[in-house]
Amino acid sequence: MTDAPQIPQSDLKRQYREIAEEIQAAVERVFSSGWFILGPELEAFESEFAAYHGAAHGIGVGNGTDAIHLALRALDIGPGDEVIVPDNTAFPTATAVTAAGATPVFADVDPVTANLDCQAVEARITGRTRAVIPVHLYGFPADLDPLLALCSKRELAMVEDACQAHGTRYKGRPVGTFGAMGCFSFYPSKNLGAYGDAGLVITNDAALAQRLRHLRNYGQTRRYYHATTGFNSRLDELQAAMLRVKLTRLDNWIGKRRTLACKYHGALTGVPAELPEMPAYGVHTYHQLVARCPRRDELVAHLASRGIQALIHYPVPLHLQEAFAERAFKPGDFPVSERLAGQILSLPLFPELTVEELERVALAIRDFYSRS
Ligand SMILES: *Cc1c(COP(=O)(O)O)cnc(C)c1O
Repeated sequence: MTDAPQIPQSDLKRQYREIAEEIQAAVERVFSSGWFILGPELEAFESEFAAYHGAAHGIGVGNGTDAIHLALRALDIGPGDEVIVPDNTAFPTATAVTAAGATPVFADVDPVTANLDCQAVEARITGRTRAVIPVHLYGFPADLDPLLALCSKRELAMVEDACQAHGTRYKGRPVGTFGAMGCFSFYPSKNLGAYGDAGLVITNDAALAQRLRHLRNYGQTRRYYHATTGFNSRLDELQAAMLRVKLTRLDNWIGKRRTLACKYHGALTGVPAELPEMPAYGVHTYHQLVARCPRRDELVAHLASRGIQALIHYPVPLHLQEAFAERAFKPGDFPVSERLAGQILSLPLFPELTVEELERVALAIRDFYSRS
């Protein structure tokens, strides 16, 4: 082990120190209002967050999984229906589909962007397919134009999983506004994170927005009148008030992530741990900076011995998860996704990471590959 200070992969304490006063003022405002669920803070946050992405409506829900789950419900997708999702994603993309009663169908991903490959999606379409969920993984947009053309040709809905992609742009326009609905998570470690669970759906469709407002609040259309049984999945006033503070800083934080990512690119040129160049159609917001690393697991151990934490997003593709064992997939079924799972490594990256820390990480990676 090393005596040098530890470098975490992400660190929410540093961010809190910067904004503590404003967060505490927001908390105090809600506590003294005596109103905690479906109130003015949520309404304000919904419209501020929707406006930030150029969408007409924002509907706050309990978390990102529910954002996707309720979006599928709003489209009447359920038992017997299939929904295509990337094989390489955060597991909850699949949870949202099964929560709606539908079947997640996996498609392989593009080797550079790690996002949905349109041809792989087309090959998975059956008579039961109802929707496609592109995930803008790590904060880089999926290539949406071919997917939108495919969805329109085959009459499928698109629901965007933008849970890692607040502020990410595709061809100049914010993601989440291309599909019928865009789904966001404010899990604490996301680029815009709550102090607990929270999520939100954006849409330009007023009828879908209305259905989502009913679905999240036990089907209530007006006080004590229920059109359906619905769910209880609401973004509470405290989280909304704190998220409003953080939304004003989001562009600044994304800018810092982008600057640090650029420095990593410079510091790691010529090293076998590769940071792929992304296509020009996207603006990357670097929820994660993911290198492709030969002998990845040895590298993780080497970094740990120098007090540096790196994480793997994600070590097991959906088709090889125990949860889907009954479908009897085999290694080799989704070659790109499987190869990525063996190589990817998310380096320490958060807005408050210092350049000295970044250089320590880069040096440790260089040392690892030059020694062996
Ligand atoms: C975080 C995340 C989710 C789930 O969000 P929760 O708020 O934890 O429910 C879904 N999809 C992706 C890609 C995510 O990163």
